[in-house]
Amino acid sequence: MLIGADPRTQWLQRAVECDQRGYVLTGRDLAAAKPPTRWPLARPPLFLETSLPGVFAAGDVRHRSVKRVASAVGEGAIAVQLAHEYLADQAT
Ligand SMILES: Cc1cc2nc3c(=O)[nH]c(=O)nc-3n(C[C@H](O)[C@H](O)[C@H](O)COP(=O)(O)OP(=O)(O)OC[C@H]3O[C@@H](n4cnc5c(N)ncnc54)[C@H](O)[C@@H]3O)c2cc1C
Repeated sequence: MLIGADPRTQWLQRAVECDQRGYVLTGRDLAAAKPPTRWPLARPPLFLETSLPGVFAAGDVRHRSVKRVASAVGEGAIAVQLAHEYLADQAT
């Protein structure tokens, strides 16, 4: 039996791009997606950035994440840093 392996992202899939299993696509996986994703900017998405610029995904819900506690916590910390970088860019 394998429990806890299905992302509950049905409500989210209208807002951000997900893979066929419902995991959220981020960063370079957005560029590699087939069919191409709806990324709207000229710059590439940041690591952990979803198809909605300035929205980041971390942990198990993210496509190709490691699915371990330590990596989810680490990605959460990185996502905070990336949000700061995104906001700083918006201000310039
Ligand atoms: C059976 C099992 C055993 C595991 N054993 C290990 C292990 O030994 N070691 C290890 O490192 N990892 C283990 N893992 C993996 C580990 O649990 C996950 O990698 C980690 O919990 C991911 O953290 P997360 O914050 O990304 O997601 P979660 O811990 O899944 O947290 C997501 C939270 O969001 C909530 N949520 C969902 N939808 C919504 C919504 N619409 N609105 C508000 N909240 C919402 C959920 O209720 C949940 O509390 C195991 C997982 C399972 C299922």
